[in-house]
Amino acid sequence: MVIEVKSLQLNENLFLIDGEMINVFYKELRLIENINRENNHGKIEGYIDIVYPFAGLNLQMTFEIYTEENEEGDLDGVFKIPFVENKISLSDIYLLQHMEETYRFTDQLESEYEKCLCGGYMMPMYEEFPDWITFCNRCDSRSENTFASPIKEPC
Ligand SMILES: [Zn+2]
Repeated sequence: MVIEVKSLQLNENLFLIDGEMINVFYKELRLIENINRENNHGKIEGYIDIVYPFAGLNLQMTFEIYTEENEEGDLDGVFKIPFVENKISLSDIYLLQHMEETYRFTDQLESEYEKCLCGGYMMPMYEEFPDWITFCNRCDSRSENTFASPIKEPC
């Protein structure tokens, strides 16, 4: 049996059964590799490490992930956090991870590059001369800053 370890480092707000909201931290997944869910129904397919606030303490807990129907009725890896209203599936976690990565990437673009009129970002054409020629990653329009040009004009 081969165990695949995936670092998550994700936060999510979840509702408790009494309506209170808590913020949990998904730390790490440990999954049995190449599992066939059709043959694994009701059995363990991995573990998830979570930091979970409880009674004023941040508890680090490990939950078992079972092959079960998720909230949408599809066969998935599913786990249950005590007192949390809904069961959580691996596809929820992967979606959250994808959204987080997209958000982080957009954030990085916003802070690093100028915006084009079309809403795209002006990326450097040459990494070595980032201020010289830039092009829009969406409409491909170019912009040149001759002052930053490495080519020296003859006087
Ligand atoms: Zn553009």
